[in-house]
Amino acid sequence: MPAVQSLMSGTTATPFLDLASVVSRLARTSGRLDKAQLVADFLRKLHREEVAPAVLFLTGNTFAESDHRVLNVGFATLQSALALAEAAPPSAPSLALVEVHEQLQAIAEVHGVDAKRRRQALLGALVARATPEEREVLMRSLSGEMRIGLNEGGMLDAIAEAARIPAPLVRTAQMFLGDLGRIAEVALFEGVDAIRAVSLRLLSPIKPMLAEVAESPEAALAEHGGTTAAEYKLDGARVQIHRLEDEVRIFSRRLSDVTASLPEIVELVRALPSRAFVVEGEVLAVDGHGRPLPFQELMRRFRRIHDIEAHRESIPLELRLFDVLHLDGAMLMDLAYQERFTSLERLVPPKLRVERRVVTSREELATFLSQALQAGHEGLMAKRLGAPYTAGKRGKNWLKLKPADTLDVVVLAAEWGHGRRRGVLSNYWLGVRDGDSWQMIGKTFKGLTDAERLQLMQQLLAIKVSEEPGVVHVKPELVVEVAYNDVQKSPTYSSGFALRFARVVRIRSDKGPLEADTYQRLEALYEKQFERKGRVRGGP
Ligand code: AMP
Repeated sequence: MPAVQSLMSGTTATPFLDLASVVSRLARTSGRLDKAQLVADFLRKLHREEVAPAVLFLTGNTFAESDHRVLNVGFATLQSALALAEAAPPSAPSLALVEVHEQLQAIAEVHGVDAKRRRQALLGALVARATPEEREVLMRSLSGEMRIGLNEGGMLDAIAEAARIPAPLVRTAQMFLGDLGRIAEVALFEGVDAIRAVSLRLLSPIKPMLAEVAESPEAALAEHGGTTAAEYKLDGARVQIHRLEDEVRIFSRRLSDVTASLPEIVELVRALPSRAFVVEGEVLAVDGHGRPLPFQELMRRFRRIHDIEAHRESIPLELRLFDVLHLDGAMLMDLAYQERFTSLERLVPPKLRVERRVVTSREELATFLSQALQAGHEGLMAKRLGAPYTAGKRGKNWLKLKPADTLDVVVLAAEWGHGRRRGVLSNYWLGVRDGDSWQMIGKTFKGLTDAERLQLMQQLLAIKVSEEPGVVHVKPELVVEVAYNDVQKSPTYSSGFALRFARVVRIRSDKGPLEADTYQRLEALYEKQFERKGRVRGGP
């Protein structure tokens, strides 16, 4: 491979082609360990300034999140740059890894008049110098679709392997830093002690813990072993608030510093009886009656840096805290959530805390859910009492509960079951009415008891029209009521929509197919998700 002349302290810079060939090899390697080994071997050979760009490329990111830089190049621009480059004779390898990263930074910095054309020209020039293998990697990385099966976890393993540091230490450091490139650099060039030292630092944000969707209140309770702490799921904006002596910093969910936009929150926090802490919660915009305002109104406040005082009045903000991660020098993240909440109760008065109730039955949970909805909130969060705070992780220790909606849909076909359900029609294809035809919106095998399943099978077989391997198609006559959590856009089904977590709640023998819900209703439901409650005076 021809060496690329370097500007880096007289050493040879790593060619971009080396990275491209690692990518091709990764695409052909299937084992997680083998992938990590391959990446580790590559990382070990890099110069310090090459490590972060390499890690970013391999994980399909152009820039680190903390960089707040975006490339501003759309897919169409990428494709036209590629088409132009392909028309020209192939280039000999000449690009260095760092150089490609720098060129992309330069593209991101293009703003103002004619920015689109100038970005296109710069990208074109870069792609023109790339070999076909390099172009392939550039395109995959820039479109965020590496398709080499290397996610953040895999990259952390590779970094640990490359630096010969135990993987859990590297993972913990990433939880705090949230910057894979930087973690790799510290691990490889500063060693294990430096990785250990990366931990929660007051006034520096850490990645927030995230939630998964609960299928139903019962499922949430069962997942948490029969007892869960239900909190209002507030339709506000997540904030992580750090205080150290007189300094207060507020960070958004994406870790931007939003302190300057939220002076009244800073005042509230300064009044708390501790001088060193990190707390988390939601900031809400409220109307004159204390009802939550639309999210867009809140965002107007978050983005504002001028005229803040005037907006304090027109869009008042409230704070509801739900967690504490550090208090007076003690790290609380590894403690059980219940213990952290007890500390929070000591630190902040009830009006600054989220409404919360520990529940042990489905009924209690359902009652609290309707209370939350009545108060204008989104639903509930169910939190496992014993769970630590896992920064940056989405998991089942926190479950989002929203009210289930239902639709009356028609069964279009059913699949023969497997295992325990062998010989029984059990996966139902669901459709909504669209004029004279039917649009499929999903499948489900959930919700019915065994007896109901058998009953439905009899009814379906009686209206069978054809059969292909594994699937019985039926006349679209039988209506079932399905509960679901969301309507999503989906390319899988003819309708272009899919129901998330659909489950049959009832066979609607009382309804005929003309009474089934329509495609138009589905579209309206999809749109409705984007509507918000309340309106601000003089607002949109
Ligand atoms: P989602 O954005 O739908 O994934 O839901 C997670 C978000 O819900 C969090 O990032 C918070 O901004 C928000 N949220 C609202 N209320 C709570 C709560 N009580 N506990 C945790 N997160 C909450």
